[in-house]
Amino acid sequence: MSNENQIWFNGTMVSWSQANVHVMTHALHYGSSIFEGMRAYSTPNGPAIFRLGVHLRRLWESCAIYRMEIPFPLAEYTQACKDVVTVNNYAKCFLRPLVWRGEGPLGLDGHANPINAMVLAMQWDAYLGPDGLKNGVDVMVSSWSRPAANTIPTMAKAGGNYLSSTLIKSEALRNGYAEGIAMDIHGNIAEGSGMNLFVVRDGVIYTPPTTASILPGITRDSIITLAKELKMPVIETNMQREMLYLADEIFFTGTAAEITPVRSVDKVIIGTGMRGELTEALQERFFGLFDGSVADNHGWLDYV
Ligand code: PMP
Repeated sequence: MSNENQIWFNGTMVSWSQANVHVMTHALHYGSSIFEGMRAYSTPNGPAIFRLGVHLRRLWESCAIYRMEIPFPLAEYTQACKDVVTVNNYAKCFLRPLVWRGEGPLGLDGHANPINAMVLAMQWDAYLGPDGLKNGVDVMVSSWSRPAANTIPTMAKAGGNYLSSTLIKSEALRNGYAEGIAMDIHGNIAEGSGMNLFVVRDGVIYTPPTTASILPGITRDSIITLAKELKMPVIETNMQREMLYLADEIFFTGTAAEITPVRSVDKVIIGTGMRGELTEALQERFFGLFDGSVADNHGWLDYV
């Protein structure tokens, strides 16, 4: 990344190389960081951040779970997210807000370590590849489960949670797959390493409930809303692993993954092995929000 890139770092814009932390940063030792991933899309009315307010609400709520108080007002953080898009001249980009317990004493409580905050913007195209969005990806069921309830809170988007995700993702890549699907500890389908999962069978769309050790995704919520508008039945329910192998269609949702069809699971071809009909209709509805072909009825676009 070029040093020209500006990052909002604790209240001021700094260059890429100046946005550094000390090795005594609490988050480095104990995973005490909270973050978001958001996308700004290029629209006919200029760049717009998708559901900015909802992402920042989740940032605040993730922090609340860990009793971390963000030392900036919501309005200032909101403006900072828009500013990093404009100051870096992006028509579209990925945004990464991050809040963390900073430099201070070692020790778990962390209350003596000041809370820091930043947001950066960078180019990040289709996470599972442009081909994946159209033709789908090959995935495996992970040998790793997602954390049990009342262990590591999966409703918080905290740095420490992503040790689970790196195990799932790197195992999949080592085995030649694009992604892994993890179960919860009861053997119900949970989610991918950084994305939620939907299964289509006989015209009905199923997705695991928020109690299945998932991060309640904002894309997941958006897709549930869009599917209902298209009169597609959506059921949030626990599913056994075998629902994957019997599915007509499977797709992932996430800010990075957007809506990515799954072509096979454990080498079992899903449906026709091509992007499914409902998946495609939902992609059209979703991506149409950004090129103006679908009206933004829900106020999901925050123009920078
Ligand atoms: N699950 C996990 C573990 C994630 O990291 C993400 C990405 N934030 C998601 C699901 C999808 O969430 P969203 O749609 O809000 O990006």
